[in-house]
Amino acid sequence: MILVHNTVTSAARCALWLIAALGCGAQRSPGPPAEPTLVITNVTVIDPRDGRVMPDQLIAIRGDRIIDVRSAHGGGVVPSTARVVDGGGKFVIPGLWDMHIHTFFGTWVPGGEDVTLPLLVANGVTGVRDMGSELEPILRARAAIAEHRMLGPRMVVAGPMLDGPKTQFPASIAITTPEDGRRAVTMLVGRGVDFIKIQSYVPREAYFAIADECRKRGVTFVGHVPDAVRGAEAANAGQKSFEHLIGIFEGSSTAEDALLTGPKGPARFLDTYDAGKEAVLTRLLAAREVWQCPTLFWERGQWLVDAIDVSRDPDALYAPVSWREQSWPRFTASIIKELDTDPLAVRQRFVEHELALVRRLSAGGVPLLAGTDTPAGVDVIPGPSLHHELQRFVDAGLSPLAALQAATSNPARFLGRPELGTVAPGKLADLVVLDRSPLVDIANTRAIAAVVLAGRYLSRAELDGILRDVAAAARTR
Ligand SMILES: [Zn+2]
Repeated sequence: MILVHNTVTSAARCALWLIAALGCGAQRSPGPPAEPTLVITNVTVIDPRDGRVMPDQLIAIRGDRIIDVRSAHGGGVVPSTARVVDGGGKFVIPGLWDMHIHTFFGTWVPGGEDVTLPLLVANGVTGVRDMGSELEPILRARAAIAEHRMLGPRMVVAGPMLDGPKTQFPASIAITTPEDGRRAVTMLVGRGVDFIKIQSYVPREAYFAIADECRKRGVTFVGHVPDAVRGAEAANAGQKSFEHLIGIFEGSSTAEDALLTGPKGPARFLDTYDAGKEAVLTRLLAAREVWQCPTLFWERGQWLVDAIDVSRDPDALYAPVSWREQSWPRFTASIIKELDTDPLAVRQRFVEHELALVRRLSAGGVPLLAGTDTPAGVDVIPGPSLHHELQRFVDAGLSPLAALQAATSNPARFLGRPELGTVAPGKLADLVVLDRSPLVDIANTRAIAAVVLAGRYLSRAELDGILRDVAAAARTR
């Protein structure tokens, strides 16, 4: 397209945008010229697939689609109707995805609509995989966002999670028998969920029935590897993603069979760790492309909850009062009582073990997703936590590019949505404009100058306005 732009006469220039649109497949039927509605000029575009950096680019957007990306000095006329933003000195990455959130989770973390969703957008998160929410509100929110009636990230949703008979969680369906599992899958697919989410207590026979029902209905299932199922079995049953690395610790233990029914935890995992078993499981996960969403930042509020001081989090002003004063203290008490029963030093060693495991999985070709579990957990704030998660990937030894992939091009691949995850003609216009390059320092994903959400440009001033509204809502909830 650049050559065309350089050689056409000015009379032909008005048709350029149409050519661009036709060329990228954004508009195939005849109609009025597809002129851009938004143009961002003089920016450096980062392609997360290969780390390619393209300076001095012009990005033309029409509606919710990118229709052209080309040299800003290549000529061509920008129609006067387009909003033109000078992005001089700035970097553009695809919108970020948080691949593990819970928007509507009962009374545990209220504020899904007025805190969680806008806070994600204000932090550059333009897409989310909701891994467990009450069915009616999450379906309503998904539709309202898609129709631009509500401010929030693009969503793929599970609806309620499938858990065992003794589930303690909101937004869950208790599964006891294989028939329960099949019935739940049938109901949820009928209601239009995007995938099925499994929790830890699903009984073994019910799990395989759910896997079978999902296969028959052509819907993916993801989540925890249940306590009663081996990681290798889950991989072979077609589970598409594992959360929190569950199933890998067990599958890398010489006591794997005993762990299916007996107690487990950091000390037991570390004491029975077998590098050879981990390597075998890693090869299986890579071969079957079983994605890992390790939620590394969330782990800190789990395994190290007694060692963190949430009052010092500068983002805490965006957390509703009820999260800070009720949910977090309650979660903390129950974590210390039930989960964090090993000494702190052992748990700290385990967190280091998790980082090293992620490095080995990545090196072994197991694909990774960035997810946070927000706002469930202690001090896992929607938005900032995704940026912390990317930092944790780098702490684990991954390159900033690999961390960025886990929140951009990898989610697009995982979801089978090639129109997401890159900045190119024909793609959906979900972008983050940054003041500094995230390839130099992953912390720069927080240096947000603007967000483009489905083609809508949100300037820094507008994002600050959203943040003020969220902080105000947080004080009342
Ligand atoms: Zn979760």
